[in-house]
Amino acid sequence: MLIDKEKCSGCGRCLPYCPYYAISMVDDVAVIDQVLCVECGNCIRHRFAKSGEKAIYSASSDSVILKKHYKKVNRCPNNAIYEPLDEIDGTPREVRRFFSNPATSHKLTGVPGRGTEEVKTNDVTGRICRGEIGIAIEMGRPCLGTNFVEVEKVTIALAKLGVEYEHDNPLTHLMEDPIKGTFKEEYKQERVISAIVECRTKLENMETILEAIKEVANELDTVFSLDLICCFDEDGTIPVLSGLEKLGMTPRANAKVNLGMGRPLVISREA
Ligand code: SF4
Ligand code: SF4
Repeated sequence: MLIDKEKCSGCGRCLPYCPYYAISMVDDVAVIDQVLCVECGNCIRHRFAKSGEKAIYSASSDSVILKKHYKKVNRCPNNAIYEPLDEIDGTPREVRRFFSNPATSHKLTGVPGRGTEEVKTNDVTGRICRGEIGIAIEMGRPCLGTNFVEVEKVTIALAKLGVEYEHDNPLTHLMEDPIKGTFKEEYKQERVISAIVECRTKLENMETILEAIKEVANELDTVFSLDLICCFDEDGTIPVLSGLEKLGMTPRANAKVNLGMGRPLVISREA
């Protein structure tokens, strides 16, 4: 994101909208630090401002009520903030938008947000079958953001254990070598709000993988959350729970259920 110095009046209204403190005042005009800016688009998103009120008579209650009207307005009153798409498109910097701006669809997958359907929608996608676990590591959220140097620490550690990175996740396409978990050099310093590492392995590898994640967490300069995805066993039990208990890890009891999507469960790799 950039600011047109000629248009900026130095009012400072844009500063609180940046979650990464990338906007500051220099010589009475706002400037955006291009290293800190993750291209999330928050500073150019519209906000709603009250545009007026209308008095409406209600016969049923014999009273007058005031109905408020709102209009969309730019966060910058002078339209000084702009996204230089022509300069960004096709360069490594474009990944910042794809991984940080929820209004942008990733060009490889067409999926908005971080560009992936995520293994947590497995009841629809059927990416993970019985006897397997899916692992999703959401790096950078909340608040801190991340770059691909940090993401690579995790992907290399897990690649050594033979996980298979999700093909339909755009992160995998930024890798130099998905077998080793290394990223292309040109993307490594790009900063994003968050990126989701997604991979799959056999259920029996779960404890080894989780131990490796615990170990690599000590080397990370950001935060992450961890999702484990599996299918119910035929008797209705959740196969990962006993292994988690052994490791002293307590899963948070929440779920995402996609009712009524009309797609059958895929429960075996051969199916
Ligand atoms: S809101 Fe617009 S005019 Fe005000 S400081 Fe920010 S860029 Fe400048
Ligand atoms: S695009 Fe996002 S990170 Fe960049 S300056 Fe605007 S609000 Fe801050």
